[in-house]
Formats: sequence, structure tokens, C-alpha cells
Amino acid sequence: MNSYNCSFKIELDSEESIKKWVTAFNEKSKETMVYETCRSGKGKKVVKNFYLRCHHKQRQSGMHTKSNKKLKTTHKIHNNKHTNCPAQLMLTLLPPATKLNGFCVSVLLKHNHNHLVQVADALRFRPLSEQSKKDYYDLFSHGHSPATAHLEYETNLMYSDKPDLIADRNCNPKVSDVYNLFNKWRKCNIGVRTGKYLFAELEKCVAVYNEEYNDIGGKAFIQRYSDCNGKEEPLILAVCTPLFSRVHRHILQSKELVFIDASSSFEDFNNPMFVVSTSSAAGGLPLGIVVTSAESATVIHQGMTKLSQMFPEDAFYGSGSPKKIIIDDSMAERDGLRKTWHTADILLCTFHFRRWLLNVKHGIDCDERQILMNLVRKLVYAKTEAELITEYSHFENHPFVKNYKNFNSYIANY
Ligand SMILES: [Zn+2]
Repeated sequence: MNSYNCSFKIELDSEESIKKWVTAFNEKSKETMVYETCRSGKGKKVVKNFYLRCHHKQRQSGMHTKSNKKLKTTHKIHNNKHTNCPAQLMLTLLPPATKLNGFCVSVLLKHNHNHLVQVADALRFRPLSEQSKKDYYDLFSHGHSPATAHLEYETNLMYSDKPDLIADRNCNPKVSDVYNLFNKWRKCNIGVRTGKYLFAELEKCVAVYNEEYNDIGGKAFIQRYSDCNGKEEPLILAVCTPLFSRVHRHILQSKELVFIDASSSFEDFNNPMFVVSTSSAAGGLPLGIVVTSAESATVIHQGMTKLSQMFPEDAFYGSGSPKKIIIDDSMAERDGLRKTWHTADILLCTFHFRRWLLNVKHGIDCDERQILMNLVRKLVYAKTEAELITEYSHFENHPFVKNYKNFNSYIANY
């Protein structure tokens, strides 16, 4: 490694121009010289002195402060970074009166790094460039998540004419940097993740959405969660997009059979999301979405009632209510939906019967589970009412069913 000291003068005349020069110096040399101190000159011979150190040396001032304890811990973790590098850069801004041959800034460079500079091990510590930050913000604006943005950005870099930049954090931020950038971008563009400001942002989004899409069948509603004087109002977010409206209007199956599936664990608060959908020749199609803060029958009823109000006039192919609804194995969901759509038959998928039978806490003998499942299948697949009555009679009188009263009552509830 070449070590040398050199001094020279440059044609700059202000603090701002000096800072630009330092940025360009770092960019070009791939070194990272950071400001240690800036001191105004006391006499008339110097306007200001700028002292910079290599960022592979820990900051000297405030070594005994509390905040530096964190720095010391970081030092241990990233001990490859802090090599106590002695390299320095000093710039002195001279007053215009002392300007000599147009030069107002004298520079002393002590280029004696105790580490390699242009190697991956050093480049991975360089700070992020403004251009890479901007590129990532653009990707987030186009709907990328941190993971997909990182993949897209890195792939583009690999196929560029400078693939070696992939090792340089300045041009290729680390995964943790991308998440930090995303959090900053989200805070500025979408809002905070928690608290009242979250709801304020959501309300703004709903208002904008209604204004923009109302004419083509898009509607949304939000009710804030509140708990005042013992009266709890659940969070309700109901959405019917223009696509959902078209499915209501044009898909015949939407009046025959509807599926309602609750999912959760999508975000920090674990709010359940109910997706209302129907089947079609092309597969499942959505009819509406409700997000609530609870899964009780009352909350589900409130949520579905609000969602019904978001639906177009000719909802469920003009019938206003579905004939049959297939749901998860949830009593609360069943009760809530019965309150909302009185005339609809609430059905349970045979998948849930199987799950119930396989659940050890229900005490069904392993050898008898398949026989019980076959009995249920015969009921479900009965082609006529008479066949169903006959099969149900067999079902009721079967010794296994009589033996398991919990199974009998579970079936009878549906
Ligand atoms: Zn250094």
C-alpha cells in the first residue's frame, strides 16, 4: 500500500465549495474521509480549518460519554471497520486578501491508511450515495417491497457495465440499509405504523379513494378503533373495488355461492381480514374485503353490514344476498353472517370436518376417523333429498356416531 504525505492548493473560495470538493474526493478515491472538527481561524490569516479523518478510525472526542458506550459495542461487533487508521485530510480556507495565484484553499493529505482501500472488505463500509437512495425511493414509489426492490436493484447492477460495484455499499446498500430506507420512505409517503396518525392517514386514503373511484364502483369505509367510557368501537375497514363491483354485476355464481375466508398475521396488529369471493370458470374472484380488530360475531356482523353498503345496487348478480356461504369452522363467523344475510345458508367445507376428526382433543379413535368421514361424505354428496334423508338415518344410527356424542352434536349444528 502506498503511503505518502502531500500538500497542495486548490481554487476554491467558500465552505460550500470545500464540502463539494471533499464529496468528489471521496467518490473518486473510494476513501471515506469524514469531518472530525471544523474550527474558525482566530487571526486574519485563516478563515476556517477543516480536519477530516478516515472513517476506519473511531471518533476521538467524547470517548467517555454515555453515547460512546454504544459506539464501543459497535466497535467490537464491526471490529473489521475500526482499524484506528491514521489517514488524515486537512483543508485551510484562506481569506481573499491572502489569495495566491487564485488559490484560496491549502490542502494537506496524509495518505497513510493502515488498510486496503479498494477491496470489498473496505468498500462494504462506505456510506450510501444519494443516487442509490434516490433509486431505491423510486422503486418503493412503484410498489416494490424492500425485498423485491433489493432484488431488482442488485440484478440491474449485476447486468450493468460495472458489476464490481456490487461489493460497494456506496452503490449497493446492504439489506438492512434497504429496510431502513424503506421505513424512512414509508414514514414520509404513507405515514407512521402505529398510533392515531396511522388512522388519520388511513382516513385520508379512504377519502381520496372514494373521490377517485366512486364513479366506477369503487367504495371504501373506515371506522376507527376507540374505547371510550367502556364503549368499544372496533376497527372496520371495508373495501369494494371497481373490479369487485364488476364481479357482482356480471358473475352469476356470486348469487349462488360465496366463500368467506378469514386470514390474519399480515401486519403488526394481527387484525383479521375477511375476503368475500365467489367461484367462476376462471377461478376464484373477489367480491369484497373487510379488515376488523376482532373476530367476534358482533364485530363480523358490523363489518359485513358496512361492506354490504359498499357493494353496488346489483350486488350478488342483482339478488342482494348470496344463497349459500361457505365459511371457516368458526361459530362467531357463522353467527355474524347469519345476522347480516338472514336468508343465506351457511355451510362448512368437508375439509373442516376432517380437521375436526383429526384433532386429538376430540378423542376420536384413529381407526374410526375414516369411517366417520365416509359417513359425512355420503351426506354431503347425496344427489336427492330422499337420498340425504336415508343417509342421515344411517348416520344417526351408526354405532360410532352414537358412541361419539360430541361428533353427533358438531354435525347437528350445521
Ligand atoms: Zn483509512
